[in-house]
Amino acid sequence: MNQPRIAIVGAGISGIGMGVALQRAGFTDFTLYEKAADYGGTWRDNTYPGLVCDVPSRYYQFTFAMNPEWTQLYSTGPEIQGYLAGVARGHGLDRRTEFGTEVIGADFRDEGWLVTTSTGAVERFDFVIFATGFLHHPNRPDIAGLDDFAGPVMHSARWDHEVDLTGKRVGVIGTGSTGTQLVSALAGQVPKVVMFQRTPQWILPTVNKPYRALTKRLYRRVPALSRLAYQVNRGFFAAFSQGLVHQGRIRSLIQWVVARNLRSVEDPELRRKLTPDYQAMCKRLVVSDRFYTAVQRPDVELVTDGIDKVRPDGVVTADGVLHELDILVLATGFDSHAYMRPMPVTGAGGRTLNQEWANGPRAFEGVMLPDFPNLFMLVGPHSPFANHPLTAVAEAQSSRIVGWLERWQAGEFATVAPTRAATDRYNARMRAAAPGTVWTTGCQSWYLGKDGLPELWPWSPSRYEKLIRRTPDSVDYQLDPRVMSRK
Ligand SMILES: Cc1cc2nc3c(=O)[nH]c(=O)nc-3n(C[C@H](O)[C@H](O)[C@H](O)COP(=O)(O)OP(=O)(O)OC[C@H]3O[C@@H](n4cnc5c(N)ncnc54)[C@H](O)[C@@H]3O)c2cc1C
Repeated sequence: MNQPRIAIVGAGISGIGMGVALQRAGFTDFTLYEKAADYGGTWRDNTYPGLVCDVPSRYYQFTFAMNPEWTQLYSTGPEIQGYLAGVARGHGLDRRTEFGTEVIGADFRDEGWLVTTSTGAVERFDFVIFATGFLHHPNRPDIAGLDDFAGPVMHSARWDHEVDLTGKRVGVIGTGSTGTQLVSALAGQVPKVVMFQRTPQWILPTVNKPYRALTKRLYRRVPALSRLAYQVNRGFFAAFSQGLVHQGRIRSLIQWVVARNLRSVEDPELRRKLTPDYQAMCKRLVVSDRFYTAVQRPDVELVTDGIDKVRPDGVVTADGVLHELDILVLATGFDSHAYMRPMPVTGAGGRTLNQEWANGPRAFEGVMLPDFPNLFMLVGPHSPFANHPLTAVAEAQSSRIVGWLERWQAGEFATVAPTRAATDRYNARMRAAAPGTVWTTGCQSWYLGKDGLPELWPWSPSRYEKLIRRTPDSVDYQLDPRVMSRK
């Protein structure tokens, strides 16, 4: 069988899952490029105190590598990182992975891709698959004087473990999942934590419990239990996602639960400050078993006045108050619309990715782009990712990609790309459905694009999985059959 040459860019969940899927389907000629020194992506880069996944471990895992050894209901960052590296190495991906190699450019030429790396090499591939993630490039806020701060300033995704927290007053800027996890973990460990809040968050309560040795033994002995737990979680998340995309009982129920949870904050003034003025889930819902306890501690201060500037000795808020600090942590998120950029990617006829995405990232079914033949993305634009585990999405998308590679191998085409008409129709349908979702109910969030509409799949994740797992309809694609002359 003719083996296509394939480049995968990125060795996080998506890239690892893709690599394993290729191997299982018999594709042997692929290179996995990873700019860092290890597997794991998000879970390698983020090592801040308190990092915990908000999807249960038994669901946030690959279906082909169910892990009976999870130590608790919601895993910590290091545990997930260990799992991902173990899966990659256990499946022999090491021999196909080039660590420390950043892909710095990709050009479509003569039915294939010229991939340029940071080592200076230029390699030709038949297909390129971007698994570069969307929460990867840290956002550094534009705050006057930030560079003048005398102490360490760390983005949460670049935690410096050399920094000694002992006896230090720590400021945390940001209130999303990361900010709340950080404050919860630091409270009581340092003399003072100051949380700078621009927007309060709704918090979904949960309980994170460790698994007993007996439970692990049981899951080891009876692998069907892992599959069952996966399906149970899947059902739960499917129900939850109804609340995201439809106004109805589930949305109301979640609103009731988070409002009730907020009542555990005793001081009415603090409760008022923590009360959002938008619906639950409009922003990514924060899941926490300890934030409200932490924020009520006397050594934790919630500051709601806007930040005016940073001085060497602390942060000055709009009311003129100086909050003296020794360490500043930026829990300010990521440039979630960058995807594989700033890398220059040039498709057919010299069309660049920046031109293609001038009005925001758009794709066909989340995985392909018109005018960019033989290019695939994992967890690309409008994939279902709000509070939904990306492991399931990436696995489903990998199966679609494998399907195309098999058709290439069967000689059906040399290059494939969705037509512009199909892509436009697809995006128009999604944008028409967006107003029915909770993300358009009146909040600012990183989900929203330039036109104020969410850059998310506006229906249930199971509908997406069904779509992406079906055989694609050839009328939506331009298939170039020149492969016959190459053989
Ligand atoms: C702090 C944090 C917490 C999160 N918590 C949750 C959670 O609780 N639940 C949940 O469902 N999701 C969560 N997410 C989302 C999470 O990012 C995804 O679930 C998942 O890890 C994404 O995997 P990925 O492989 O698609 O991308 P990433 O994990 O971002 O991996 C991309 C990889 O590509 C590499 N790369 C990028 N560009 C290049 C290049 N040019 N050349 C070579 N290599 C490159 C990167 O180094 C990285 O290793 C969280 C994200 C963050 C940042």
